[in-house]
Amino acid sequence: MNLHEYQGKEILSKYGVAIQRGIVAHTPEEAVAAGKQLESMTGTKFYVVKAQIHAGGRGKGGGVKVAKSLDDLREKATNIIGMQLITPQTPPTGKKVHKVLIAEDVYYPGPSEHKEFYMSILLDRAKGRHTVMYSPAGGMDIEAVAEETPHLIFKEEIDPKVGLMPFQCRKIAFNLGCSGNAHKEMVKFVDALYKAFLGCDASMFEINPVFKTSDDKIIAVDAKVTLDDNALFRHPAYAEMRDVTEEDPTEVEAASFDLNYVKLDGNVGCMVNGAGLAMATMDIIKLSGGEPANFLDVGGTANAQRVENAFRIILKDENVKAILVNIFGGIVRCDRVAQGIVDAYKNIGDIRVPIIVRLQGTNATEAKKLIDESGLKVHSVIQLKDAAAKVKEVLA
Ligand code: GDP
Ligand code: MN
Repeated sequence: MNLHEYQGKEILSKYGVAIQRGIVAHTPEEAVAAGKQLESMTGTKFYVVKAQIHAGGRGKGGGVKVAKSLDDLREKATNIIGMQLITPQTPPTGKKVHKVLIAEDVYYPGPSEHKEFYMSILLDRAKGRHTVMYSPAGGMDIEAVAEETPHLIFKEEIDPKVGLMPFQCRKIAFNLGCSGNAHKEMVKFVDALYKAFLGCDASMFEINPVFKTSDDKIIAVDAKVTLDDNALFRHPAYAEMRDVTEEDPTEVEAASFDLNYVKLDGNVGCMVNGAGLAMATMDIIKLSGGEPANFLDVGGTANAQRVENAFRIILKDENVKAILVNIFGGIVRCDRVAQGIVDAYKNIGDIRVPIIVRLQGTNATEAKKLIDESGLKVHSVIQLKDAAAKVKEVLA
């Protein structure tokens, strides 16, 4: 589950990670009120208005603006709230901004230069270890750093037996070129950041920039936090941070039916039991000249209700020109599934696209007979290659 920047910062702060302080606003009036409150909390006279959407690169797209007075703040907030923000990480049409974070300006002048670093924590799956990835070349474009100057990206692996050790935090601070008080602050920052990562069961933290102020404080200016869905039951308060308006509506609905659905761009919908079989089915669709319109795993219990929900979800996609159902009856009986398909078809009524059903496994022949005799616009096959040929035929 992805969080907004302000939610991520709230979690970080709870674990003692220093952050750029801010207050969320939904309207220009709230933004000005937030600005006043920030001034009394921090003494700041400059503010940053930051669009809260689930995508990075907001600065490049005009979603992060510095305001130098409360009037300026009102104007910038008015422009950003409600805008359709396009960044390299949004869909081409952008994402609508519903709220902004009004943050203190931390790029103030002081005795030393301020600096932007990059830091993320993630699971290195090949090594089976958490890894702190960091770079002195932080700020906007870490992808370009990785491409052009890969030697500026460092990695620190964490041994799960002992956790992140103090010497590792010092090494990170050193490699980032922090000295004096900034070094001490960075050591504290990294240590607290890893505690936060473990504590909230995150699957990814990306803090870009980690910021060294001109008076040598180290703070998180941005926070991209992804929590592990499978651990959310341990954090009911975090589970409530889910913002479904940021997610694909069809995927949200599918999740409420407990269906494992991912929308894609193709023209052949598919309904499959088992993730592996679903992947293979998508390959078959491609081989037959189509493009999969989705990934959908209905899971082990392919009963009538689930099949019906799955059909409804697939049919929401206007691009779907045919549906391929591919069910292996190992534990489920194919004739049960076939009956489920027939019932679902009748319940939904007019299904506008041809359906190809491939049922293999226990009672496959009975299942085919049941579908063939139903009189519905459903083609049943037993072999996968026949299913592929049929898909080709209906797309032609
Ligand atoms: P992103 O573009 O979505 O990654 O959003 P960030 O939160 O990283 O902000 C983008 C950029 O805005 C940063 O790299 C900074 O250059 C700038 N920025 C963020 N906070 C401040 C601030 O307090 N003062 C100033 N002057 N610039 C800021
Ligand atoms: Mn950023």
